[in-house]
Amino acid sequence: MATEKTYKTPGLIIKKTKLGEADRILTIFTPELGKIQGFAKSVRKPQSKLSGHLEMLTYSQLTLTKGRGLDTIIGSQNIDSFIDIKDDLYRVSYALYIAELIDYFTDEGTADKELFEHTIECLQHMGKTSHPMYLLRYFEMRMLTYTGFKPEINNCVICQKELDRTNLGGFAPSAGGMLCIDCREHSRHYGYFLSNSAYKSLRFLEECGIEDLESEVPDPDTISELEMLLRRYIRFVLEKDVRSIPWIDHLKRLSPTVLY
Ligand SMILES: [Zn+2]
Repeated sequence: MATEKTYKTPGLIIKKTKLGEADRILTIFTPELGKIQGFAKSVRKPQSKLSGHLEMLTYSQLTLTKGRGLDTIIGSQNIDSFIDIKDDLYRVSYALYIAELIDYFTDEGTADKELFEHTIECLQHMGKTSHPMYLLRYFEMRMLTYTGFKPEINNCVICQKELDRTNLGGFAPSAGGMLCIDCREHSRHYGYFLSNSAYKSLRFLEECGIEDLESEVPDPDTISELEMLLRRYIRFVLEKDVRSIPWIDHLKRLSPTVLY
């Protein structure tokens, strides 16, 4: 029965890979099926009906048919193409960074509905916010929580002492979070310096919802500090570089004062 072979799922296109002359393999992030791969036949031909519907960062209701190897995408109905993001070189670059992280931090076939909803919410917000770099830090903190890599920031990861502005030792990616002053001196883990304002923002990001995010936007230096800290941590967790970061840094050098 052909119908038993066909199924529908909402999905966000997070990666495209060329295959042969005109085909593609798409990596799709879905709420119920986790990350899946879909074969898009002839989609690189100009006359393909599907091509415009299967671009990067398109969120749509997809119809797939099961195959022996990859499932084939046979239909796509647009839910949100995030036009506000795609009209802006900076925002689209930040959104591609989100897509890359999702690809790295998720496994095929493992559903994570909360992470899916968080991702869609952040992409929708990315088109509207005046502080997209700050939104990225919020995205990262929540993504780390949902995927089980949340750094410990309330207590020292070594001695469990409660932390406040008087005993902050630093942030140690290799230990999985914050160190107190004593443990920074005596443990083998290297703790990067963290200012009080960055520490306060980190705790805020851990607790706030997206609707409260812009009630406490820190100054640009603090946002940059959070960016460096989370980059180091994510790099440690992944054991590799995130490929979209050099491009984001290039854009920042072009316009160093915009878009915090
Ligand atoms: Zn300690």
